Amino acid sequence: MRSPPDQEERSPVELQLDEASGIEALPKRVSRYGDAKRRALEVAKYIEQSFSETLARKVHYCGNYLVFRHYYTVDEIRLHAAQFCKKHLLCPLCAIRRGSKALQAYLPRYEAIKAANARLKPFLVTLTVKDGDDLEERFKHLMAGQHELWKRKQRGRGSALDGVAAAVWSYEVKRGRGSGLWHPHLHMVAMAEHQPDAQHLACEWRSITGDSFVVDVRPIDQHDPASGFLEVFKYALKFSDMEPVDTLAAYLVLKRRRLVGSAGFFRGIEIPESLLDEPFDDLPYVDLFYRYLEGGYSLKRGMGREPHESKRSEREPREGYPTGQLSEQAAQRSSIRLTG
Ligand SMILES: [Zn+2]
Repeated sequence: MRSPPDQEERSPVELQLDEASGIEALPKRVSRYGDAKRRALEVAKYIEQSFSETLARKVHYCGNYLVFRHYYTVDEIRLHAAQFCKKHLLCPLCAIRRGSKALQAYLPRYEAIKAANARLKPFLVTLTVKDGDDLEERFKHLMAGQHELWKRKQRGRGSALDGVAAAVWSYEVKRGRGSGLWHPHLHMVAMAEHQPDAQHLACEWRSITGDSFVVDVRPIDQHDPASGFLEVFKYALKFSDMEPVDTLAAYLVLKRRRLVGSAGFFRGIEIPESLLDEPFDDLPYVDLFYRYLEGGYSLKRGMGREPHESKRSEREPREGYPTGQLSEQAAQRSSIRLTG
């Protein structure tokens, strides 16, 4: 639990990491979640036919309902209850939520690093390996290359990343545009006083990997650092470009792997398990109950509470909250009907 923020004092970064969260922004957010849920259903259908009914069921029922809590006195929306499958490699809805939670975990550290040393600037570094038809082999090749790159830096014999004081990266997989083969790569936010030299990095990367030299280094706008972090924490799989058959194949290769890594001052940050938002304590609210029906979310009801009326258990966010129980409780409460 935390205290309500003072809107005036909040930076654009903080607003973005909360998914810019007044009531006005809610329809757009719900519609984005609806699109993700629709794609998850396509994946679930494919999994059911070709792989596992149990897994398919998990993904199918993910996000069937969403409860947003509107703290209307400060106009803040929080995702308060939902049932998530947490298969973020299969489910675009869980991938969006996980990306948002990762952003929320890393941005405060970024701001602390900047406060301690204003000369450190953020850069977006991309490392790729040559496309190939064996995803597992290509993925291991990328991971081994990244591992060796950091070892070289530690050995202190001169590396393109020598000036990097903090880095966080994530691995991503898609099909190469031209080749149609698997194309694993990684995006990294690296903080350094000077931009790492791309040519030096490309040479080093080639000498490590033996077959790959395509790298990219560019500055991240310091007034909008979230944009760089979003690049790192966006989906590990490009669901919108991927056929369900590829999504499942990538899931089977990547599911037990750690897809986010960090070094230097970014080390030691945990991305929270829960995909829900942090609630505010002791503020009055209205709960907005959405159910997924035929292609999108629709608002079923809203119900209001003053803080002294609610039990602590109702104030805690809930994952896997049984919908029947929630509806029944809702019916017993004084209800502010927002729509039919
Ligand atoms: Zn899910």
